Amino acid sequence: MIKNNVKQKPIASLSLDLDNQWSYMKIHGDSGWENFPSYLDLVVPRFLDFFQKYNLKLTVFIVGQDAALAKNHQALKMIADAGHEIGNHSFHHEPWLHLYSNEEIVQELTLAEEHIAKATGKRPIGFRGPGFSCSRSLLEILADRGYHYDASTFPSFLGPLARAYYFMTAKLSDAEKQQRKALFGKFQDGFQPLNPYPWELDSPSKLIEIPVTTMPIFKVPIHVSYILYLSSFSTTLALCYFQLALMLCRLSGTQLSLLLHPLDFLGGDDVPALAFFPAMNLTSAKKLDVVSQVIQLVSKQFTILTMEEHARIFAQKY
Ligand SMILES: [Zn+2]
Repeated sequence: MIKNNVKQKPIASLSLDLDNQWSYMKIHGDSGWENFPSYLDLVVPRFLDFFQKYNLKLTVFIVGQDAALAKNHQALKMIADAGHEIGNHSFHHEPWLHLYSNEEIVQELTLAEEHIAKATGKRPIGFRGPGFSCSRSLLEILADRGYHYDASTFPSFLGPLARAYYFMTAKLSDAEKQQRKALFGKFQDGFQPLNPYPWELDSPSKLIEIPVTTMPIFKVPIHVSYILYLSSFSTTLALCYFQLALMLCRLSGTQLSLLLHPLDFLGGDDVPALAFFPAMNLTSAKKLDVVSQVIQLVSKQFTILTMEEHARIFAQKY
């Protein structure tokens, strides 16, 4: 059925970054994250049921640290057994991965690959950096290690705005600003392509980039967590915004790659410890309703694939 639709509808891929409760607590500075509290037993069956209902397969980027803990193995194995693609989302989930040395990058990838393969039985061929962290060294090493694609770029203008605000308030010297020029992403990131492209690398192996889609022209976020954030003000407005993004993708020939997170399936009623997070004032029932509408809008207009399939179709064309 998917093969017939490939000719009729443009391509879209779905992915979910399986950030766990501890990584949000760590960023927020909450104590107790060191015990790696997990909501995987709750959220994994919930999103697997959801995608089963729509008969869709997606790519789930797993954090190696979670795969290293026996308490998460059952939930992680369920994802692989349901036929979804397993991707690598680093081991430690540190958004400053782009500052790692080559040895540290190799160690980070090796650890994650070993534990993810042990927990799921699958070795990833796709990578997404934590917090969209990416560097030339990382891409070279991914290509050398046999990865087919990277999915760490986020062509948005909003990251540099955050950095400008940081510079304005932190009173940094020019030299210090130079050191921090990559913080929150470069200004040029907003001009990066939205469609997949091959990286030009020293490595003899090929590596394709599949960017996280932002709204064509405006380059503002359209990932599902952002739509849910908007729907905490008005669901009608949020869905209009998303429909505009889909229309612009179709008009501009942009191959959609839509990003989801576990918190898109969890309400403040499920995880009180994360009540501080945007859109956690919504219940899980409300969120599931909005996510259902988002997925239905996409599947009406696009052929939905995993990122591995998206990369393979792109590779056949160039
Ligand atoms: Zn993440």
